Amino acid sequence: MSRNHHVSGIGMTSARTRDRLINRLRSEGIRNETVLERIRTVPRHLFVDEALASRAYEDTALPIGFGQTISQPYIVALMTEALIEKLRPGKQLKKVLEVGTGCGYQTAVLAPFAQHICSVERLQPLILRARKRLGELQINNVTLLHADGLRGWKSQAPFQGILVAAAPTETPQNLLNQLDEGGHLIIPVGMRGEQRLHRITRRGDTFENEELGLVSFVPLVGGTDG
Ligand code: SAH
Repeated sequence: MSRNHHVSGIGMTSARTRDRLINRLRSEGIRNETVLERIRTVPRHLFVDEALASRAYEDTALPIGFGQTISQPYIVALMTEALIEKLRPGKQLKKVLEVGTGCGYQTAVLAPFAQHICSVERLQPLILRARKRLGELQINNVTLLHADGLRGWKSQAPFQGILVAAAPTETPQNLLNQLDEGGHLIIPVGMRGEQRLHRITRRGDTFENEELGLVSFVPLVGGTDG
């Protein structure tokens, strides 16, 4: 990243621009003030291409290359809020699995709410870029892995939370298996154009399912890029 990128970022990332985004998320129903404050603080413009930086604080998904997108801030806020809803103030989830690191923006937003994040991405170039960005922001409680998230991350399980940023057509059994007692799996499920966001909570051997609304994610694709 060039020095210019940082400097030219200042104008478009003014307090007013960020306040506008936060007010919008609030009007769309995001209630958790700690999550809103985190969205305000994380420099989203550093996760997108320089050419798109002026749009980084709009509530919209933007392309990050390789046919993938940085999630819409509202969706990142909604998923984060759903994951940590029952957490007492100042407490952290022990270990969270994220499937679909992408550019690492959701990872950065989530970082203070977990002691550790294990994040899996199937496209190697995105992993390299995310690692660089998270390093620059001194976010150090994240382990990134180039792997197929459909398998979860067995050696690191169980997870107190699992957050999936790409949509399978059915909830993967591996992810259910790797969820800790009382843990939440936040996942979009369904075909393109008819995906719903779910919060699935483990209660012993049964799984409670809540629907959080219609969403639009890139598809979860099995395997990796090599
Ligand atoms: N979390 C990102 C958005 C990522 S977009 C953000 O904060 O903006 C979804 C990502 O999921 C893409 O990068 C895509 O490559 C990845 N993905 C799709 N299928 C996957 C799989 N089976 N395992 C791991 N990552 C996957």
